Amino acid sequence: MEISTNGTTQNHHKVIVIGSGPAGLTAALYSGRANLDPIIFEGSQPGGQLTITTEVENYPGFEHGIQGPELMDIMRKQAHRFGAKSIYRNITKVDFSSRPHKITDEENNEYTTDTVIISTGASAKWIGLESEQTYMGYGVSSCATCDGFFFRGMKVVVVGGGDTAMEEANYLTRHASEVFLIHRREEFRASKIMLDRAKANPKIKFILNTVVEEILGKTEDNKKSVTGARIKNVITGEVSEIECAGFFTAIGHEPNSKIFNGILDMNEYGYLITKKSTTETNVEGVFACGDVQDDYYRQAVTAAGTGCMSAIDAERYLEKIEFEETSKANDQ
Ligand code: NAP
Repeated sequence: MEISTNGTTQNHHKVIVIGSGPAGLTAALYSGRANLDPIIFEGSQPGGQLTITTEVENYPGFEHGIQGPELMDIMRKQAHRFGAKSIYRNITKVDFSSRPHKITDEENNEYTTDTVIISTGASAKWIGLESEQTYMGYGVSSCATCDGFFFRGMKVVVVGGGDTAMEEANYLTRHASEVFLIHRREEFRASKIMLDRAKANPKIKFILNTVVEEILGKTEDNKKSVTGARIKNVITGEVSEIECAGFFTAIGHEPNSKIFNGILDMNEYGYLITKKSTTETNVEGVFACGDVQDDYYRQAVTAAGTGCMSAIDAERYLEKIEFEETSKANDQ
């Protein structure tokens, strides 16, 4: 992985991209090709959510599909080819109250920039059980691709009724002996094709109208492990236990927008609000793209599309302020 760390204090840039999924890397590619020398803050998960996926079958241009991490690697290299530079740090603070905008990274380096493109994405949601935290990394996971291998020949649980749950359950059948898909109601948010595929998989057993009350486990030789889950049928009220070694939460995502609280407009779930048909936020020179502003489509290709829009919006904004400054200078 190419690493460049030119994050000295008080660097000024024309474009800073925060986040490195398909949206951020596409924004960097476009602003790189526009000679704007973008800097990408890649954050704690360089490449974003696609780096924890396996096969991506629906990204145009790859007739036979491509592995998520490989796709992100190609996108990064393509952006770097046009002068974009990656800094592998998180942004911890932003100040958009005056121009140029200021941002600070986790090592307290400060950067100023004319435009900011926010593409911080979204993260997996958790059910919120104490036992989920207790066994996190010891049998509890939100990423089948990352952890499925550990459960070869064992029983696992997947919680959720959306496309993510179907995808995770299907993937896990490659390793697990049996996959219990637990969903709190009878209807699914999953698309028909994904649901049908999961239903047709003989290793997946659907447990509907059911919630997880607790994840069960044990500690032996100082090592924690999951042994099962206590579940409750929400219609009959019946409580039972199910045996499993792995527990995968697949109940959706939340936007990574906390550092913009009180600074940028967001909806009740924390998704950044952009103006209709653009990627402009409520602050001039600050643009948002990808999953952090999209709670509806949430696809790699739509994220990349809005990343492209952000770069074009930023470029036009830079042209506008340059024109205004030149006109002002000429008037004096
Ligand atoms: P989602 O569509 O929002 O589904 C979340 C599921 O989790 C719902 O069934 C929900 O139940 C359940 N849930 C939420 N909170 C819960 C809780 N506290 N306890 C138990 N269950 C809970 O999220 P997603 O599946 O992550 O999908 C998000 C988007 O990504 C979708 O647009 C999807 O199409 C897309 N996606 C696409 C692919 C693909 O095409 N390859 C793969 C993955 C995701 P309720 O239905 O009862 O609310």
